Amino acid sequence: MLSFSEFRQQAGCDLVGVPPLSCFDGLPPGEDPRSLFPDTRSVVVLGTHLRRGQFRAMEEGTLWQTPGRWLTSVDGVIRLIESLGYECVPYTPLEAPRMPRQPVRPGLCAPNAVRLSVDYAAVAAGLGDIGYHGMFMSERYGIRQMLGLLVTDLEIEPSPPRSPQNLCDRCLECVRHCPLQAISAEATTTLTCRGRPQTLGLINANACRVCPNGACGDSRYFPGADELHFDIENNQIRGDARTRYARGGLPNRLSAACGRACIAHFEATHPTGYRLPFRSREPWGFRPDQERGW
Ligand code: SF4
Ligand code: SF4
Repeated sequence: MLSFSEFRQQAGCDLVGVPPLSCFDGLPPGEDPRSLFPDTRSVVVLGTHLRRGQFRAMEEGTLWQTPGRWLTSVDGVIRLIESLGYECVPYTPLEAPRMPRQPVRPGLCAPNAVRLSVDYAAVAAGLGDIGYHGMFMSERYGIRQMLGLLVTDLEIEPSPPRSPQNLCDRCLECVRHCPLQAISAEATTTLTCRGRPQTLGLINANACRVCPNGACGDSRYFPGADELHFDIENNQIRGDARTRYARGGLPNRLSAACGRACIAHFEATHPTGYRLPFRSREPWGFRPDQERGW
């Protein structure tokens, strides 16, 4: 078995975690990373921090640039694992066209039914917590990272758990600064991962999908996608299943008003080393139903 510290050093990413496989026991096959690869011995979560300038430009309203939330370039880690004589399967929660909707043989998950939560795996790996807004937060970068996941037949020692203190302090700035009032301040759901309770505010995913404040359609859940690619029945994508974490397929909200409120609060309460504060004026915010003022 490869020690975690040795693997982390060689992987060379900002965030590296290896959740114990027992964290996935009892999950439905579509949410269990071991469904990706029959010989799985380890699940690896990787993260790269996102440049603060991208978020500052959105905060100032000067450049519309939405940062990606999924890490797709894990080639270095794949080559490392293959150089040791093992193989691995990387996973990105993106939608491939013409994916089979039925298992290729009995007992397997249909390829289009795999809905892994990379955020869940990251919490299980001890890399951070899921905030009240439902986005993953790490101790070092808050919400500012993209995450990736791979499974491998290389046996790697699991990474240690995090300190018990939750990274989300329930300040509710994300609730207050959502112009669409999409996140409930009172109604919550609690999910437990590796012994860590994660309290998430209930969220109106339909509001997020039309949010004009920096939310980004990097999944199939953006306006227009339904008509282009999917069979719709009763306002749902036919054959789709909600998972506990995806909660109806939320778009990328990292640079949306809720995400930026969290960055401002995180930087006000954690040392970051930046000379200027993230937020220096009242944040902007629009509603899709409001009249244009100019
Ligand atoms: S803004 Fe506050 S309540 Fe919302 S996720 Fe961030 S820390 Fe938690
Ligand atoms: S994406 Fe927009 S609508 Fe959804 S919680 Fe964030 S700010 Fe509110």
